Amino acid sequence: MASEQDKARMRERAARMMAHLVGREEEQRRKQESKARRAAPQRRRRGGRSDDDDVVFEKMPRRAAAKARAGAPADVAALPRAVVVAVHHGRVDLDTGASARIASRLLVDPEFRVAVGDEVAFTATEGPPRIEAVLPRRSWLSRPDPGNVHRDLVLAANVDVAVITVAVADPPLRPGLIDRFLLALARGGVAPAICVNKVDLVGDAAAVEREMAPYRELQVPVFVCSAAHGSGLEPLRAHLRGKLCVFVGHSGVGKSSLLNALDPEGARAVGAVREFDGKGRHTTSWSSLRQLADGTRVIDTPGIRALGLERMDSVQVRTGFAEFAGVGCRFADCTHRDEPDCGVRAAVAAGRISAARYGSYLRVLQSLDP
Ligand code: GDP
Ligand code: ZN
Repeated sequence: MASEQDKARMRERAARMMAHLVGREEEQRRKQESKARRAAPQRRRRGGRSDDDDVVFEKMPRRAAAKARAGAPADVAALPRAVVVAVHHGRVDLDTGASARIASRLLVDPEFRVAVGDEVAFTATEGPPRIEAVLPRRSWLSRPDPGNVHRDLVLAANVDVAVITVAVADPPLRPGLIDRFLLALARGGVAPAICVNKVDLVGDAAAVEREMAPYRELQVPVFVCSAAHGSGLEPLRAHLRGKLCVFVGHSGVGKSSLLNALDPEGARAVGAVREFDGKGRHTTSWSSLRQLADGTRVIDTPGIRALGLERMDSVQVRTGFAEFAGVGCRFADCTHRDEPDCGVRAAVAAGRISAARYGSYLRVLQSLDP
């Protein structure tokens, strides 16, 4: 039996390992991806390699990349692929049911990261499959790395829809939270949806609708339901069907209840949550992806339910409020705070832009100020 101290030490080591595996600086990624895109045509002419080869190599210094290529399979694009359903230290579980090793040349690469939802290419000649590359991400959810202010941790990759979950009451509905989540999702290119739960607790459905009107206008799908009564769930279920989703939102709003209500037959855990690995050692399952009966897959990882806005700048915030674009301010870089002839403030005054959303914008801006 491991002592409490041993266990604590193991947890600490695993946490460090996790930060190494799953963290990734987002800007770096974007820069590298655009660099890879720009360089791709030339490279194809030179070496005839496919774009997929660049996924991992492009992130490394040139010499390290050359070394890594030496040990890498010649044609990553031809390798079988799978989706990561759980990340452990040094290995990942795949949706094929296999537990895969990660090629050691990737593990020593400081830029290598893998997250739940990542699509990976693997070789499987003998023994467990070996991850050779992580394919480019379509989208991602991230939050700032508590251990490094300059980078973000990717919590989940290739998410199709994030359901921002709020309750009409208990805890009370705060639309400002929705606005913050919308910004955080836009950062990683994840499509939002809003689920307003516990509608059984209020009589005034019209008030809920009024609060949701700005989001409906922004074309964000809104679902009003009660997990407890099982009402209003079908449209949400239909919207999510077959997609890779996450539920984000504060504790107590009913995310777990919703998941259970959406999948009454009982969700099947795809990522095995193990207490012990094959050698009997204690392990922690970091994140998992589960599949509902209708093919919808839901990522439920620790930490994914709250997303911070740290490290966003004011321009990102401004462009995140899509309804502010094109209203015609005198200054192209108008912050819509106190500049003269501000089209946004005029639109708010005239009721064409939601005063609640504008208030959220100002609060987010203020929270960014040092
Ligand atoms: P989570 O923290 O977001 O996962 O929230 P839970 O699913 O654990 O729910 C928190 C509490 O809200 C529990 O006591 C649930 O029974 C309750 N709850 C969840 N959904 C509803 C609902 O639709 N109506 C009401 N009245 N209570 C609900
Ligand atoms: Zn303005």
